[in-house]
Amino acid sequence: MCGMTSIHSQYSEQIETGCAIVGGGPAGLMLGLLLARAGVEVVVLEKHADFLRDFRGDTIHPSTLEVMRELGLDEAFLTLPHTRAPKLSAEIGGRQISIADFSRLPVHHRFIAFMPQWEFLNFLAQEAARYPNFRLIMQARVEDLLEEQGKIAGLSAATPDGQIIIRSRLVVGADGRNSVTRAKAGLEVESFGTPSEVVWMKLSKQAGDPQETMGHAGPRQGFVLIDRGDYWQCGYVIRRGTFTDIKTRGIAAFREAVSAVSPLPADRMDEIGGWGDVSLLQVRIDRLKRWWRPGLLCIGDAAHAMSPIGGVGVNLAIQDAVAAGNLLAQPLRAGNLSDGDLAAVEARRGFPTRATQKLQLMMRSSRRTDQVSAEKRKGPPAFIRGIARFPLLSHLAGRLIGLGFRMEHVRQPQISAASKGQD
Ligand SMILES: Cc1cc2nc3c(=O)[nH]c(=O)nc-3n(C[C@H](O)[C@H](O)[C@H](O)COP(=O)(O)OP(=O)(O)OC[C@H]3O[C@@H](n4cnc5c(N)ncnc54)[C@H](O)[C@@H]3O)c2cc1C
Repeated sequence: MCGMTSIHSQYSEQIETGCAIVGGGPAGLMLGLLLARAGVEVVVLEKHADFLRDFRGDTIHPSTLEVMRELGLDEAFLTLPHTRAPKLSAEIGGRQISIADFSRLPVHHRFIAFMPQWEFLNFLAQEAARYPNFRLIMQARVEDLLEEQGKIAGLSAATPDGQIIIRSRLVVGADGRNSVTRAKAGLEVESFGTPSEVVWMKLSKQAGDPQETMGHAGPRQGFVLIDRGDYWQCGYVIRRGTFTDIKTRGIAAFREAVSAVSPLPADRMDEIGGWGDVSLLQVRIDRLKRWWRPGLLCIGDAAHAMSPIGGVGVNLAIQDAVAAGNLLAQPLRAGNLSDGDLAAVEARRGFPTRATQKLQLMMRSSRRTDQVSAEKRKGPPAFIRGIARFPLLSHLAGRLIGLGFRMEHVRQPQISAASKGQD
């Protein structure tokens, strides 16, 4: 009953567990690992067959590295291929300005590690699978919730081998911004708009490319560059609804527009052969009015979709998982989980979420998102100009981005015995 498994039975399966977690993203897998380590029976359901999805945010923040350290996993984790960004920079008037500096943070690892998210998720899944009370079911798409006397009592999921029914003391919705769990639970969402979209593309990395872009090259007026080793993952921010117009102008005009804001040589844009080489992702900021109802809790993007500004979404998702693990492991183990326990998780994480989203909204309104003409993109956003004038602010920005508003620490002792080797 352990490990990263698929259901191989031809028939539908019924499972009884302590906690059923919907979604094997950063929030779901971290919570799965923490609860399993703390002796809770836990099942994580992930609709995809693997973790190989792009454009999900590659940043592992200092606070997440600190959590990994508290779990005794940081050394093994940092042997995986990654690049380190001790600061984030932006270009202003041809000069590289440090806009977020992590070098003075009160943690062991003072940098953001850029690592493809699938590596991070695989690592968490493998670590969690060392606990006999953990189970990960891939290709399990949660479709509905079981409700008994006004309380969520489990869920049903479709797998290639049939339907599975899980009965559990708690269902956690960690299924991201399009959460089925929160929709099925009828939790009310407060939306703060979908102001922009990001056009993602890959460009090759070559000798002579900018050095400072060990990670994001900073919000270079709406252009993001992520170092993926042998190529750049590039994000070009556009105003919502303008992609059709951009396409109408043609791929050559698009290459030109990207080239105008990119630090890479213009001929690199020739690699964008056609619209099949780019993909569009919607940016959204929203938040649940209440994160829970009896028997169910939402965390991560399912509770609060974050904008990519500051690259803090993964960080918040992990911090939610740590808080939930701290507050829920004991009552789940004891079988006396109450509504108050679920409300306590929201109370703990509500403030950092609201504060971060407020900051993102403020930064967004100071940012120019009319991407069509390079002329209109001249001049950095106000917050970057502020940091350029007062460099010490880059340490404050480093703290907010690197650690967030309320940093969580792993408080639950390890109770379950883990197997030694990795599966
Ligand atoms: C363009 C863009 C760029 C971003 N860049 C960054 C960045 O650089 N750094 C950063 O920290 N954040 C970034 N973010 C935000 C970040 O991606 C999210 O905040 C973060 O992934 C949230 O983690 P999560 O675990 O809550 O949800 P997700 O990562 O969305 O994971 C949810 C999981 O649930 C699974 N799932 C969904 N529905 C079901 C279902 N019905 N049944 C079973 N499984 C299901 C999904 O397959 C997925 O694996 C970015 C966001 C966008 C839009």
